Amino acid sequence: MFQEEKLIFEKSVKGRKGVHLSFNENKLNTVKPSIPDAFLRNNAAELPEVSETDVVRHFHRLSHWNYSIDEGFYPLGSCTMKYNPRINEILSGLSGFGNSHPSFPEEISQGSLEVFYNLSEALKQITGFPACSLQPAAGAHGEFTGLLLIKKYHEIKGNTKKNKIIIPDSAHGTNPSSCTIAGFETVPLASGEDGRVHIEDLRKTINEETAGIMLTNPNTVGLFEKDIKVIADLIHQYDGLVYCDGANFNAIIGQYSPAKMGIDVMHLNLHKTFSTPHGGGGPGAGPILVSDKLSPYLPVPEICFNNGIYSLDYSNEQSIGKIKHYFGNFGVLLRAYAYILSLGDKYIASISKLSVLNANYCQARLKEHFDIPFVSTFCMHETILSDSRQNEQGSTTLNMAKALIDKGYHPPTIYFPLIVKGAMMIEPTETESKETLDEFIDALIAIAEEIKQGESFASAPQKVKVTRLDEATAARKPILKFEEENE
Ligand SMILES: *Cc1c(COP(=O)(O)O)cnc(C)c1O
Repeated sequence: MFQEEKLIFEKSVKGRKGVHLSFNENKLNTVKPSIPDAFLRNNAAELPEVSETDVVRHFHRLSHWNYSIDEGFYPLGSCTMKYNPRINEILSGLSGFGNSHPSFPEEISQGSLEVFYNLSEALKQITGFPACSLQPAAGAHGEFTGLLLIKKYHEIKGNTKKNKIIIPDSAHGTNPSSCTIAGFETVPLASGEDGRVHIEDLRKTINEETAGIMLTNPNTVGLFEKDIKVIADLIHQYDGLVYCDGANFNAIIGQYSPAKMGIDVMHLNLHKTFSTPHGGGGPGAGPILVSDKLSPYLPVPEICFNNGIYSLDYSNEQSIGKIKHYFGNFGVLLRAYAYILSLGDKYIASISKLSVLNANYCQARLKEHFDIPFVSTFCMHETILSDSRQNEQGSTTLNMAKALIDKGYHPPTIYFPLIVKGAMMIEPTETESKETLDEFIDALIAIAEEIKQGESFASAPQKVKVTRLDEATAARKPILKFEEENE
């Protein structure tokens, strides 16, 4: 399909220009730029001299070397790489929002403030919590903010000894790091055989120094912590607080109210569950929702609505303060609001129904061909395979992931969670059809069959632009600029 590809520098022809500026160059020369001489360039930059067509083709071609959700199925576990409706992009780009500035006075920001207010109200209604802050910029930032609230709670109560947070080994990796950054000590808790937290193990770990627990629910092995209320009650007996990592909320949204499970603070990943495309390092939003115990300390400003007017209130002296400039990542919040309104009460629960159904469908069809830990139960929104069977036959999870690339798929998350040997974590999300899932499952089964016949896939992928990399060198010593090969 590709003709012999020349790099843009190799296409350069001296004197060729993409654009001819039509202004009067003599006139331009009379304008002296206010840049100090020392910083002015003496020689022209070494840029490829190419036509506009060359440039357009170059960048368009590069864009095809990447894989994206718009091209195909992206089962990257834990990341919720789902299709996000384009309408939300359009709405978040409306000029009234796009051209507003967060420093505008409240009188002319009423529309934007209304969106903040209404989104907070919607998230409170969906989760059952009495209070919300939209400020955190991502999931991990929400964790950090929630932990600062926990810290403040203990400070105000004079609980000076409470400096430890219990984190099960089925938690997301950001949990222990947020905990450390917030100044707590992490106490790991091993999951039971069934991949869940056991109350007897927790009893042995908890003590007077326990400031709280951070639970991911559903946890990173795709299972629901069904004893969460009992766990929360035990933590509360020690005046500890319960943090719930709610990044996997697409598995449970609309089914029940997290607030009723004894949780004190929970973040949501709007860039997973609520419509902002996730990945590529773009902006996110990790709002937190809190119980009455923690609401007095939420970040300022609070967005208020009185007598038909929206306003910002900075007066709360007990607040942990501001944790983000202005009020949060507005574009992401807008998309989430549009998404919630477009689904409404009637359809919001279909997110969780379909994401769980899709994951269980994958699990059911794959379980004969792969070892699946904890398969005795249904999974939530993701299923996890282990490579133990394929190991005996001479292959590995890494090789299978690379083989999937040759079959046109982005691989699932691999070697995470750590508690499953050679894990492959598949999150199909709610937006994929049965046909897409079947094609993907068939591809995985075909790989397993070939491994049985003696193929190891040690040199896959072969059919893509970049074949097998030395990943450590690629990460540590990346070559990021054009270097002419000296032959
Ligand atoms: C993605 C994720 C996070 C972190 O969210 P970021 O927005 O990437 O900081 C935390 N916990 C879980 C379970 C996640 O899946």
